[in-house]
Amino acid sequence: MTYQHGGDLHLTYNAGRGYSHFVLYIEPPAAAGSAINASQRFRASTSPYTAEWLKRLDRCAPDALHVSLLGSDDAPKLWHPCVYEDSESPSAVAGDGCVCWQTYRDPVTWLPVAASHFRTVGGNIEHWEYFTYAPLSIPDGERLSVLIIDRESGMFWARTEHGILHILPEKQGAGYGAGYGGGGPHELAGLIEKVVRSDGCDVAAGTPHEPRNRKVLAWVSSKAADRTQELTLDQLKLLHRRGVVA
Ligand SMILES: [Zn+2]
Repeated sequence: MTYQHGGDLHLTYNAGRGYSHFVLYIEPPAAAGSAINASQRFRASTSPYTAEWLKRLDRCAPDALHVSLLGSDDAPKLWHPCVYEDSESPSAVAGDGCVCWQTYRDPVTWLPVAASHFRTVGGNIEHWEYFTYAPLSIPDGERLSVLIIDRESGMFWARTEHGILHILPEKQGAGYGAGYGGGGPHELAGLIEKVVRSDGCDVAAGTPHEPRNRKVLAWVSSKAADRTQELTLDQLKLLHRRGVVA
């Protein structure tokens, strides 16, 4: 199901461009950014899910969507080359370290991705950190087949029937969590209920303000949920019915 916004915003969906996945929202005098799509930030880690998702990204030139990820103060850095391409780059440190940014696009959703490079002189420490937005829903007409709790990266993912991996659609200010009592697990329990009730069709961001299914909430808040695992649609239905996943 397409994301439904409570305000005056009407999203149009174009399957070729994926526009319904992202809304650029600017309210002067605040900085550019998204008040609707949730910001995401994670390291390239040992997670096979981040590896799979990062592998499909297309490198592209920086645009307004990437600027919205960084804010206007840091935005000029998006155009500085990496030390590997130019040791004299303004982002290079002593010709060997680097604090550059590289820009990508997810070809499935067209969401912007900005990667922050950190390399010390000599290369003892080197890593990349990724900044992007969660989509507002999975593509229209697709169903969720697996929900993934990914503890290595701290992310939550949805895999569709067609096998495509998406960051789990998330509303700004309403992030997910698992393995403790709090707002994050509460939001995840609400999404699981929505997925179960729609037979996997409704994976749009945002959950209703209503009490959660006790069995789902108890499991999501328990230690059993605090490890990397894949939950199929059938397992989510079982969880909803009996409070267990096996
Ligand atoms: Zn670099």
